[in-house]
Amino acid sequence: MKKIGRLDRPDNFGSAQIFSNPVLEKISRTHISVPITLFLAISSVSLYFGLITTIPLWLGFAVLFAGIFVFTFVEYLMHRHFFHMEPDTPIKDKLQYGIHGVHHDYPRDKDRLAMPPFVSAAYAAILYLMFTLLMGDFALYFLPGFLLGYAGYLGVHYLVHVYNPPKNFFKVLWVNHAIHHYKNPDTAFGVSSPLWDYLLGTLPKKE
Ligand SMILES: [Zn+2]
Ligand SMILES: [Zn+2]
Repeated sequence: MKKIGRLDRPDNFGSAQIFSNPVLEKISRTHISVPITLFLAISSVSLYFGLITTIPLWLGFAVLFAGIFVFTFVEYLMHRHFFHMEPDTPIKDKLQYGIHGVHHDYPRDKDRLAMPPFVSAAYAAILYLMFTLLMGDFALYFLPGFLLGYAGYLGVHYLVHVYNPPKNFFKVLWVNHAIHHYKNPDTAFGVSSPLWDYLLGTLPKKE
């Protein structure tokens, strides 16, 4: 098992200090509504520019859904291989703790469920450039799909940590993420869906 978080403190309501500098510490905290609003706003603008291109609407929306789908895979890969990287050097150890270990230590710290807004904005800009290089104008549809996936993931992650599980089939998201946090951090990397865990064999075993 990778060294991450502390499984012996499952319901810690506290918070960790990441930076000794009070300004850095303050901006390392973000309310979840900030990045979600930001991503929805950028998506709307991008979609507007997509709609005024000559790309047929059906194709544009197919690309948008592809963006959502691709996001779910990126979410899985990032969580599995980047957030849970082996902290085998002091730098990786610090980085791993700052980006994700802190969340495993204090899963209920609501201010640390998303990256600070300027980091999110930087992501969005880099993604826009990358997608435009790869697919030209189709990026105007792909980007909103990807960002909607991202906003959805942030929303689900927030709900899972802040609210009790619902009594419908969405409950599986609560169950899987609880297993990831409190039982086996080497399983259930998908937060917004168990699809990739299912396909890549990291779904928690049924007992
Ligand atoms: Zn994790
Ligand atoms: Zn979590």
